[in-house]
Amino acid sequence: MFIESFKVESPNVKYTENEIHSVYGYETTEVVHEKNVNGTYQWIVKPKTVKYDFKTNTRVPKLGVMLVGWGGNNGSTLTAGVIANKEGISWATKDKVQQANYFGSLTQASSIRVGSFNGEEIYAPFKSLLPMVNPDDVVFGGWDISDMNLADAMGRAKVLDIDLQKQLRPYMENIVPLPGIFDPDFIAANQGSRANHVIKGTKKEQVDHIIKDMREFKEKNKVDKVVVLWTANTERYSNVVVGLNDTMENLMTSVDRDEAEISPSTLYAIACVLEGIPFINGSPQNTFVPGLIDLAIKNNVLIGGDDFKSGQTKMKSVLVDFLVGAGIKPTSIVSYNHLGNNDGMNLSAPQTFRSKEISKSNVVDDMVASNGILFEPGEHPDHVVVIKYVPYVADSKRAMDEYTSEIFMGGKNTIVMHNTCEDSLLAAPIILDLVLIAELSTRIEFKSEGEGKFHSFHPVATILSYLTKAPLVPTGTPVVNALSKQRAMLENILRACVGLAPENNMIMEYK
Ligand code: NAD
Repeated sequence: MFIESFKVESPNVKYTENEIHSVYGYETTEVVHEKNVNGTYQWIVKPKTVKYDFKTNTRVPKLGVMLVGWGGNNGSTLTAGVIANKEGISWATKDKVQQANYFGSLTQASSIRVGSFNGEEIYAPFKSLLPMVNPDDVVFGGWDISDMNLADAMGRAKVLDIDLQKQLRPYMENIVPLPGIFDPDFIAANQGSRANHVIKGTKKEQVDHIIKDMREFKEKNKVDKVVVLWTANTERYSNVVVGLNDTMENLMTSVDRDEAEISPSTLYAIACVLEGIPFINGSPQNTFVPGLIDLAIKNNVLIGGDDFKSGQTKMKSVLVDFLVGAGIKPTSIVSYNHLGNNDGMNLSAPQTFRSKEISKSNVVDDMVASNGILFEPGEHPDHVVVIKYVPYVADSKRAMDEYTSEIFMGGKNTIVMHNTCEDSLLAAPIILDLVLIAELSTRIEFKSEGEGKFHSFHPVATILSYLTKAPLVPTGTPVVNALSKQRAMLENILRACVGLAPENNMIMEYK
């Protein structure tokens, strides 16, 4: 059975006018390596419960979302999709009359199990866990180095059905993104012809310009909060150099000195952190150089990334988790992609491709490291990623993967997958989830036993990992890529905020 909403009744949970307060027992374990009386060592695992207090502000703000690369395929598709949902637009396809929806969004279109009622399992929308911004109410804004209006940009993207585009045109033709920061050194040379709408001046002046843009956007649209998300072209990696961008002080001095190696994405991120505005990176490059992370930590401003986990990598982080979890040893993973959109054209340059290759390459590491029966320490499956630009297929990206594994008694198993899909239709709902969950997470505070004061999550937002290909984590935090673990982490943290135990799938009620 499916219910729309619920309230938790528990001595550990208190709902007040503007808050949900939950006292929560976090069940975990401590592992120690202890010396026995005979001098040998053994591993001891000690279950323990740590008390946490969670406090969630339930006042949902009016949210502004500013996209860097607003006129791109993702930016125009997301904006079009939200307008279509808000306006209740439907359109004729050759199959049927299609209604606007938010399929592909974890927060808007997935569900959670809340318990059982009269022997029946009860499910509720994911978004019913805690009060979240309704995507229909988000005010969009942003920048692009191309001055094309969003209706034409939607046409250029060739993603949405033409009947839908015709209906959306009037809503989008007067929207033109703000000029963006352009540096040809960081993206492919083939993007140059697009850059007719750029912010002039030194790097410091560009940062100040972005700050001014965000303040004006906030003021004009009367939004309570803003989140900024990079969905612009993939940049090449910036060199990380001691004295240049390794600390907050050096990074800020480098901006003042107009140092060439500070990328446009890092400049936008600096502007956001200085303004206390969360910044999410949907592309693979190292926008978050150490100096930027340092800046975000010292200012306690959320940063999250990197690179949307939309298609091939999402499948990989499911399939390899399944294989390794089933005791099967993946030995070779080969991934081919071809795509014909502007992202594909930009990725046809070796430096930008390299950013994508790095982002896609570490995604199986945690799963491999988790099974010492299959893999020797340091052993990895062969893992190769190829991306080719094929204009004809446009946004309809092809991803072909071959997984070869060793099975019982030296047997070999090969699984081949062919995935065809408009890339932007995968990315748009993920962008939505990223900004909605980022916003929500800034309303949650907690403290553990012994901590005097409530505090927010660490500024490096690991809570967004489910949505990113190469999750950015604070130093010393394990990187989790397995999709089911990432989803469980997010769901269970939100459950804790309303005093619900983690979903443990034991269903003892029926045993
Ligand atoms: P796109 O090329 O259609 O859009 C990018 C837009 O950014 C363009 O309109 C471009 O003019 C603009 N731009 C470039 N540099 C800019 C700057 N410095 N400031 C402002 N605007 C700038 O690409 P897309 O298909 O929308 O993808 C966007 C990004 O998302 C890419 O980096 C891509 O790798 C990444 N990504 C996409 C997916 C997916 O499934 N679609 C998945 C993971 C990552």
